[in-house]
Amino acid sequence: MEGCVTQQQLLAEFLSLVKVDAFEERYSGDIGDATYFGLPLSSIVEAERRLISPKDKCLAYFSMEYGLATSFYNKFTSARPIDPKNKSQEQEIFSNCRLADYYFSLNLRSLVDLPIYSGGLGVLAGDTVKTMADYKLPVVAIGILWNTGYFRQKFWFKYGQMPERMTWDLTSYPGLIPLKNKVKISLRNEDLYLRLWKYYVYSYKHDAVVPLVLLDANVEENNEKIRHLTDQLYRSDDVWIKIMQRVILGMGGVAALRELGYNVNLFHLNEGHAVFAFVEKARGLQRAEVDALKKHFVYTCHTPVEAGHDRFSPEDLSRVVRKEDFEICETFGKDKGSINLTLLSMNIASRINAVALNHGKVMQLQFPRYKEQIQHVTNGVHPHTWMSDRFKGVFEKYAADLGDIKANPMALTKVDGLRDKADFRREVWQAHQQNKIDLCNLLEKWKFSPDIFTICWARRVAMYKRPSMILQDVKKLISLAKKIGPIQIIFAGKAHPSDNLGFTFINDMLDKVDGLVDAYDYLKIMMPENYEISLARILTSSVDVWLNNPLPPFEASGTSGMKAILNGVVQISTLDGWVVEAADKGIGKIFGYVNPEGVVGDERDLHMVDDAKQLYAALEEMVKLYYETNNKGQIDFSSKWLDYMINCLIAGANFNTYRMLDQYKKNIWGIV
Ligand SMILES: *Cc1c(COP(=O)(O)O)cnc(C)c1O
Repeated sequence: MEGCVTQQQLLAEFLSLVKVDAFEERYSGDIGDATYFGLPLSSIVEAERRLISPKDKCLAYFSMEYGLATSFYNKFTSARPIDPKNKSQEQEIFSNCRLADYYFSLNLRSLVDLPIYSGGLGVLAGDTVKTMADYKLPVVAIGILWNTGYFRQKFWFKYGQMPERMTWDLTSYPGLIPLKNKVKISLRNEDLYLRLWKYYVYSYKHDAVVPLVLLDANVEENNEKIRHLTDQLYRSDDVWIKIMQRVILGMGGVAALRELGYNVNLFHLNEGHAVFAFVEKARGLQRAEVDALKKHFVYTCHTPVEAGHDRFSPEDLSRVVRKEDFEICETFGKDKGSINLTLLSMNIASRINAVALNHGKVMQLQFPRYKEQIQHVTNGVHPHTWMSDRFKGVFEKYAADLGDIKANPMALTKVDGLRDKADFRREVWQAHQQNKIDLCNLLEKWKFSPDIFTICWARRVAMYKRPSMILQDVKKLISLAKKIGPIQIIFAGKAHPSDNLGFTFINDMLDKVDGLVDAYDYLKIMMPENYEISLARILTSSVDVWLNNPLPPFEASGTSGMKAILNGVVQISTLDGWVVEAADKGIGKIFGYVNPEGVVGDERDLHMVDDAKQLYAALEEMVKLYYETNNKGQIDFSSKWLDYMINCLIAGANFNTYRMLDQYKKNIWGIV
């Protein structure tokens, strides 16, 4: 009966379902009779109806961060010009071409990505929610509106990374709307108020949405200290702030679902960050009822690294939450002298999962009591977000062989049937080469060339990821580039502002790059500051090799390499995370330390020297093969290099969020 609803009725229904604050003053120019910031309003109305319907059983997905790639994927339009505060800023570059660094910077000239993420966990949550929309699942996502984002990274030579406060304008960000709804959470010594905001995550066809509800403590009812709690993501210099941020996500999230009248049957907690959702639901229940609540909770653990597990002292926690709430935390989360949010999560969830096969094994070693319960669902990436238009174009051209890759990325397995077709091999190379030419145009002032071997390391700077490994032995790198062929290296990533070891890596790299000024003719190294999703999309689709060298087994999954394989970018990687499941697929070169079966090992024992040696050997082989394939622009399309590229594309059939969601539906959520 859709056709009977007039457009005015649609807007009226939207406004009755969604209580937009300051609609007339601020949003009526962008939310009209049929459209919401340029996309169909009907998709929103349908989703909102479903979430409040008593018939549908909905899923609430909780995450501390969301990386939605709003700068380039499903872009909203607005009648108002973009506020300068919401535009991406110029990024300085630190390279061994100092003159170019002095005169020029990088400017992507785009909308800044909604700044409510820090890295891989957020991007995964964003990719997951987008896929839920593609699948038209009845889902609401819960997060926090970080008023000053994560942080902006500046490089200061001789000082390393300087974090700067990030500012943006919430009220004019396209697609983001404040609601009139507020919720209250009652803590031991005070009440805390949260305003609710919404951002709608559309499906790629724009025919469905998942609402993302964002919690904001910056309201006048709160005192000054509390108003700042939702300023900065992962602020960790103060334990009270750390606890409060988690309380806001969990308790505030459940209060928000109640306020909005959503009929939620299943709560999906990502990390222990969100576990206060259970505490909120369990308040006032009898023990038997509390136990019965568990079947409504599932928990995904995203890291085997110690720093990823929150532990609070009973004193700190009991100072924040009410006595009855603390008792629930203690009952389910007591771990020697502290309250451990990871244990708490495992004890209150009916399903527990790790994020890759190997991570599942490691988790079983770390938590032997839960061995039987721990499953794994290997992560994936959202193909519509991360596959470049040029590769989408190639696959569309071969639709007769492959079917509709957009609707079914698992059909990338059929690319195997095309590998011997000369035209296909040429088109794969050309799609990649065009992407690489775009990159080189962007880096024109640094004289990057599309016919030079280019390798990239870009992700969060954390110790176990061993960011500086490729610069471990600079002399070796120079001799390799001189002997075999020139090399271009791009490095990018932020270190958490309180991670001193991360700082050390960046400092060390800046120093080394500075010492390579004379090598610029054959070894170009550049470090753009402030790595973000918009740059990730460019780099993962345009370099020749994606470098991934974490210390096994501490990379739970890793996803940046998955973005790269969707664009035929060859891998050089250690055997860790998702790569363990792809190592026999011919996606590139695997090297380095392998942790013995049944042993987790020590994340501080980095194996840098040995692994760097192996990395240079792998690099030597790959640079050689690259220049045999691309001989000054003369391409040998029969080269093994193209087989690597094609194998990567085929592997993309598995490492995407469609396969991932199918498994969550079946094995974790129990909805087929
Ligand atoms: C994908 C992505 C990551 C995750 O990279 P890993 O290699 O999985 O650690 C981090 N940051 C950004 C901006 C990303 O897009």
